[in-house]
Amino acid sequence: MKFIMPRTRGLRGRFELDLETYYKHSKSVVRIKNHNPDTNLSSAVTTALIKFQNNQADSKLILRQDTNAKFQLKQRTLNDQFKVRFGHDPITLGDYQMFLGPEYQLISWDVRDLRDLEDTVIEYKGPIFSPNQLYFLRGGDGLYNVMTKPAAFFGYKYFCIRCLETGWNIKSHHCESMCD
Ligand SMILES: [Zn+2]
Repeated sequence: MKFIMPRTRGLRGRFELDLETYYKHSKSVVRIKNHNPDTNLSSAVTTALIKFQNNQADSKLILRQDTNAKFQLKQRTLNDQFKVRFGHDPITLGDYQMFLGPEYQLISWDVRDLRDLEDTVIEYKGPIFSPNQLYFLRGGDGLYNVMTKPAAFFGYKYFCIRCLETGWNIKSHHCESMCD
């Protein structure tokens, strides 16, 4: 079946699709190939960092994230550095936030089911605001994928990095963040 992504609709109202189909067509999602529950998150964080740093050479690593030695070295280095500082392996997103904060803020949406997306909840957000945000999508299987553009992903024009709400434009946005 041919799928045409509506220009601004994003995920809103795409009830006829399953999440995998949406992911495949969305330019705002980097699917994590590593489905091992023990190491999926570390692959996701490594991917999000590479994507955020937007190094052209490194973007090739993401395509071959499951087999590329350089990708795996980056992943291992991240985990090794964490272990040196905290004395154990990183397990949760909160662990990686401890390590990457306050430079980065990690945010993860719970996307168990496409039909739930109207009420999609943020299942984790780093406690300290940073404009350098890494976005994750956590599915019902507990595995993470990486998301790059929340507005596009959820089918809006605007995403407020402070209160993490989507909307149509900044003018109609009433920010609930006390920082403004
Ligand atoms: Zn806001």
